[in-house]
Amino acid sequence: MDVRDFTRAVDVVDAHIHMQRSAAHTQELYHYFLMRGATRSGPPNPPVIGTLEQVQAMLERTGVRHANILMFTWSGMYYRDGQFTLPDDPAERALADRELKERISRRIVDNNEWALQTALAQPNLSCFVGIDPVVMDERALLAEIEDKVRRGAAGVKSQFTDCGILADDRRLWPLYDYLQASEIPLQMVTAEWAPGLNRPAHCAAALAEFPRLRLIFSHIGHGHRFGEGSDAEFLELAQRYPNVCGDLSLRLPEVADGHIDPQAMVAHLRRIGTDRIFYGSNFSLNEMLHPGPPPAEGDFQLSETLKGLQALATLPLTEDERADIAGRNYRRWLKLRA
Ligand SMILES: [Zn+2]
Repeated sequence: MDVRDFTRAVDVVDAHIHMQRSAAHTQELYHYFLMRGATRSGPPNPPVIGTLEQVQAMLERTGVRHANILMFTWSGMYYRDGQFTLPDDPAERALADRELKERISRRIVDNNEWALQTALAQPNLSCFVGIDPVVMDERALLAEIEDKVRRGAAGVKSQFTDCGILADDRRLWPLYDYLQASEIPLQMVTAEWAPGLNRPAHCAAALAEFPRLRLIFSHIGHGHRFGEGSDAEFLELAQRYPNVCGDLSLRLPEVADGHIDPQAMVAHLRRIGTDRIFYGSNFSLNEMLHPGPPPAEGDFQLSETLKGLQALATLPLTEDERADIAGRNYRRWLKLRA
């Protein structure tokens, strides 16, 4: 089916995209953060650039009416790599470590500022801003959120797996306290592919302490086996806490590819509560993670995003549930302006 027919009939909002500042920024994301390219895995170059121009082209071609940029800086990698360069002398080392953290914090703030200015200038975009509780001290971290949200950011994006911490780390308690009190949503990424990474279960202690926290789980938990592992952990939290939500990025293409049975997906979404599920594509990262044949010169890959929309259009949901998941839930939750 033509996804344009679907998006003409149903208001679709993309709760989860990644936009890069430039082609060089995307090369860094692809080769450095995702560790792909000719000498590692995947094609030598990413099949998509994901700059503003391509994000707007994606929205135009799909008919999706709004997209939320999840801005994040792979600051954990910067910090780990930067530590290899520190001097031996203990006093010099401490000073250089502090300077390194300040420099990375500034990188995070500058990226956030760019995302905010871009979203403010585009009526069909909003943004969440990134933070790092390891390189930013508590005061700087809360000040950064306060500043960006006051000027229009819609929420906060975390990447605790990259930061090397778990969601039950007590350094995060002031952050959770502030976000709960201010009703600011926090996008939570969890991972199941290696031991020691942040999982939904690591959020249980925070939710017990801050039960009204608005946590949006990327990929509804992203279990290896559908409905098990981190999928089941996410479901348990969603059933217990009314402000726990999830987005369907990376999971709808799994339905389209036949890895998840459509009926099983719908049953799972109903257990979570279809009023707390958001459509999301993970564009442009989703395309980099699943590269197909190289796109024509000047074009970019959109196949994963289209597959996800096709799955959303055809899942055996009621039309009311579909409209909720496609866009109504997110507009209600984020009070979007366009
Ligand atoms: Zn993502």
